[in-house]
Amino acid sequence: MFVRQQSKVGKFKAIQITFCFFLACFYLPFALIAQENKARCLTDQVHRYRLLNQPGYAASIEAAGMNRVARASSSNSGSVTIPVVIHVLYNTPEQNISDEQIVSQLDVLNEDYAFLNPSSLSVPDVWKPKTRDSGIRFVLARRDPSGMATNGILRVNTPRLDFQVLDPSIFQDATGGHAPWPFTDYLNIWVCNLEGNALGFSSFPGSSGNQDGIVIDYQAFGRKGTVKPPYDVGRTATHEIGHWLSLIHIWGDAFCGNDLVDDTPVQEKPTFRCRTFPYTDDCSTVSPGIMFMNYMDYTDDGCMQFFTDSQMLRMQSVLDNFRFSIRNSSGLVLPMPYVHDVEIDSVLAPVKSNSYRCLSPEVRLRNNGSDTVYTAQIRYGYPGSVQQAEAWSGILPPGDVVTVSLSPIGAADGIQVMEFRLAEQDDQSTNNYRSVAFSLSSLPGENCPEIEMLAYPNPVYSGGTVCVKTGLQRAQESQIQLVDVAGRIVWSKDQLIRPGDTLAVATGGLSKGVYILVIAGDLNTEAVRFVVHEDEIMPASTGNCE
Ligand SMILES: [Zn+2]
Repeated sequence: MFVRQQSKVGKFKAIQITFCFFLACFYLPFALIAQENKARCLTDQVHRYRLLNQPGYAASIEAAGMNRVARASSSNSGSVTIPVVIHVLYNTPEQNISDEQIVSQLDVLNEDYAFLNPSSLSVPDVWKPKTRDSGIRFVLARRDPSGMATNGILRVNTPRLDFQVLDPSIFQDATGGHAPWPFTDYLNIWVCNLEGNALGFSSFPGSSGNQDGIVIDYQAFGRKGTVKPPYDVGRTATHEIGHWLSLIHIWGDAFCGNDLVDDTPVQEKPTFRCRTFPYTDDCSTVSPGIMFMNYMDYTDDGCMQFFTDSQMLRMQSVLDNFRFSIRNSSGLVLPMPYVHDVEIDSVLAPVKSNSYRCLSPEVRLRNNGSDTVYTAQIRYGYPGSVQQAEAWSGILPPGDVVTVSLSPIGAADGIQVMEFRLAEQDDQSTNNYRSVAFSLSSLPGENCPEIEMLAYPNPVYSGGTVCVKTGLQRAQESQIQLVDVAGRIVWSKDQLIRPGDTLAVATGGLSKGVYILVIAGDLNTEAVRFVVHEDEIMPASTGNCE
């Protein structure tokens, strides 16, 4: 059995010992960190600093339930949606992360806390019965504490080059930080440049209200933009919110320590990088060993998979007791509807797992505005590659939703992220983007049909003409680009292209090599390769492609 054989009384004693251990060994974790590249989480250091320096802190977190062993709460309503406010503290333009990067973090949180993350498919069989949807969701605030509309993102240009973890400057306007919104109604998240190699830290329930929330380095927030591997899947926030909801590191912050939940194995110390299951240590010496893929360990982002049932009960218990007021927060109530506000409400497909290389995505649009919506254009695809586009038209009254099925798109094996965005900005931009992570294992495999696009003659000599038969299925205003093999744009022009059009592309002046003609239309994009030879023996075109 991997369940700890300790009584509840024994566990209570263990946490007291753990706190004493914290005080006696204040510098040990820093030595530990020095052996690793990144300080995954400094919550424990912040906690011990507050124990030493903030009178009343120990009693306050005790009263908030930090020392309670996880157990089901009789009043647990099962689900809660938490209003989130993001404080972006930036000194350089790079640190001023984009709205889309912030939304990508919210998407990760909602996947992880719903157990819809693609890595959940890899949970070892022995631990699958401990996993489920936590019922906890996260949405950017829509109403600020004064009752005004907000997108939940606050941006502060700070003179501070970075912020120290133990320095409260981050939580104060006067010192280059930003004051939190009331913790009784919002989860405050600060994103900034943390000093050194720290990725993030959190406050435990019961911390001072003007320091309640989590802090994440801008290079470990979300799954796009400024994130750096191996902390580029947004799991730093998943972990830190675990602390904010009272979870303790899975090794109990001590050798074979106690994390106050009854369904995790004892563990010697944090696990860095990725491990292969089963992995044992000096505290869990036999298979299945330690639970290194738990969100409350230090494993790399891509190798984290789940919270256990008792961890979820411990989080829900905090939401039913110390943080109960957040259930009644008005932070998600729109004070006044916008006139034009279409939201990508959710991504219905692909979700979690697919077995075909040709995916048919589905999104749900919601009209949050006061005007009826008749058209919307959705761009979708993979980060860094050409996006497909699809137009929807119909009647979408205020408050209604519509499911839009998008044209098939190809996919490769493994865990991938697909992005969706509305092509036109409206009155509220933070809900125009969604991303979803899914896993593809393509057996037996089925590829999307290719749109036929043809270049001839191919190869062509450098003084001739190459004819390009387009494959667009509808007339589209398109951008045509000729790109060389190094990715440089040779020329570019805009043109209306109709189905069946053939383009004549002069190759005079082109040096020998491979070229790609890209036609990016409003609705879809296609490309064809051709080779230019300088040898005049190669077939020459007449210059007429009809
Ligand atoms: Zn931590």
